[in-house]
Amino acid sequence: MNNQEYDVIVVGASNAGGMAAAAAAEKGAKVLVIDKMGSAGYLYRETIAAIHSKAQKKAGVEIDRNELVNFISTFNQGNVDQRLLNVWADNSSEMVDWLDDEVLQPHGAYIKATPDAHYETERNRAFPTGNEATAPDGKYWQMGYGNWVIAKAEELGAKFAWHTKLEELIVENGRVVGLVAKNMKSKKTSTFRARKGVILCTGGYGSNQALMQKWNSLGLKTNVYTDSQRDDGSGIVAALKVGAAKDEEPASIVFNRGAVPVGTNAEDFYEVDLTPPDDPGYLWLGSYPMLKVNLNGERFFNESAPYQFQMTAASKQPGYLSAMIWTEETMSDESLKQYHTLGCSRLGFPGIFTGEEARKEVNDRLNEGLVQKADTIEELAEKLGLPKENLQKTVDRYNEMVSKGQDSDFGKESYRLEPVNKAPYYGAIVGGRLLATLDGLRVNTKMQVVNKQDKVIEGLYAAGNCSGGFFWGIYPDHVPGLTASHALTFGRLAGKYAAE
Ligand SMILES: Cc1cc2nc3c(=O)[nH]c(=O)nc-3n(C[C@H](O)[C@H](O)[C@H](O)COP(=O)(O)OP(=O)(O)OC[C@H]3O[C@@H](n4cnc5c(N)ncnc54)[C@H](O)[C@@H]3O)c2cc1C
Repeated sequence: MNNQEYDVIVVGASNAGGMAAAAAAEKGAKVLVIDKMGSAGYLYRETIAAIHSKAQKKAGVEIDRNELVNFISTFNQGNVDQRLLNVWADNSSEMVDWLDDEVLQPHGAYIKATPDAHYETERNRAFPTGNEATAPDGKYWQMGYGNWVIAKAEELGAKFAWHTKLEELIVENGRVVGLVAKNMKSKKTSTFRARKGVILCTGGYGSNQALMQKWNSLGLKTNVYTDSQRDDGSGIVAALKVGAAKDEEPASIVFNRGAVPVGTNAEDFYEVDLTPPDDPGYLWLGSYPMLKVNLNGERFFNESAPYQFQMTAASKQPGYLSAMIWTEETMSDESLKQYHTLGCSRLGFPGIFTGEEARKEVNDRLNEGLVQKADTIEELAEKLGLPKENLQKTVDRYNEMVSKGQDSDFGKESYRLEPVNKAPYYGAIVGGRLLATLDGLRVNTKMQVVNKQDKVIEGLYAAGNCSGGFFWGIYPDHVPGLTASHALTFGRLAGKYAAE
């Protein structure tokens, strides 16, 4: 076991960790970042929320800070620390501007504001908070800039130790003074000492089924895939062992796009996904508010809602899954326009799938047996394992309301009512894709981890999805890019504070 000393040690090199490292190094601290994996660049996300970044100001985007913060608090029924929301609101634009100026623009990329993200429906009001990290060619981009953040932190002097996993925190006289880490290749352990602080940026616990059972047992049933396969909760657990407090209720961000084989038992099925490039079961079209029914073939909600609402609504239905039903016509450019969404459910610029993209995805899933195609509703019901009579009745009723232009059952906006009356018909059984858990360690406004008495654990900071107090229940997708921004903004703040 060797012994090395730094000012600040950051655990986790993703959104929160990379930003924490760069910020601490900017302040002149000697910084070490450890990450249990060999890279983290692809985990940096492109849609980043902020209030009044330079790009937003240039695009004329106006957001009322208190209106937004109160809206988020209300969405969470007050189950958040509003002081943290204020800290985010007041610091998000500095973070986005730093990314734009220091990381993206030197590479020809840039931040693009998304003023068009503002819309209102019966069940959702969206704020134009999205700042899109945009590729040098001006295109929507996936998995692009994270390695540049890491390179920037290195340029500022931070050192990165990959394949190095936090095992436990070292406490002396009530203060966290370092950590024990294991090299995942050699299996050797090392002690690293931190003169000023350890910042945990280890993400959530979505891939740890035992922790899911303990902290989010309903999520374990309703989700069929987890897209955060490296999130094992080890950072949270290490902090709990030294007395940290954690959120007492779960929070998560879940996509309604997890197509599963007919007959899947959601309670038993929880696939720890491998993204990228393997992303089994992805049905992006699933986020669109087309006709959706429960496993009894009955409609049960207004589909035009934040994407996670489908999963929470389905959690009150038999089998926790739902089926989506659509036609070839639905996949025309014209039809898809009415489904324009935003944030994480935004598909490229300008924000909707083209007919060609939709058909390609659906054909791929059809070949994998995750989408069914039929000439009649009866045949589709049979292929989907749904009661035939019920599905036929539901479709007939839906078409009747579409022809009148009014969803008198659930109140979906008339512009989003699309008939299901022309073969071929398509259908898929879908469940939740857990993108990340969002409940975590309790922190104060300086990102210091606190214990149950709200007392600071000296030398210990947390940011991103391993930290809590910011989300509750489901993700407010009317604030596009909020999870990434929470991680990036609070990571940057934690780095600054720890380096002081
Ligand atoms: C497909 C997908 C798309 C998404 N798109 C968006 C989007 O557009 N906008 C948005 O706001 N959010 C988005 N999200 C959510 C967003 O990715 C997360 O909220 C964000 O990654 C959280 O960042 P983080 O730094 O807190 O944690 P993570 O990104 O989870 O990173 C944690 C890091 O810590 C490391 N680590 C964990 N434990 C240890 C340990 N014990 N020792 C050492 N290292 C450890 C891991 O290897 C990892 O690198 C998306 C998520 C997914 C899956």
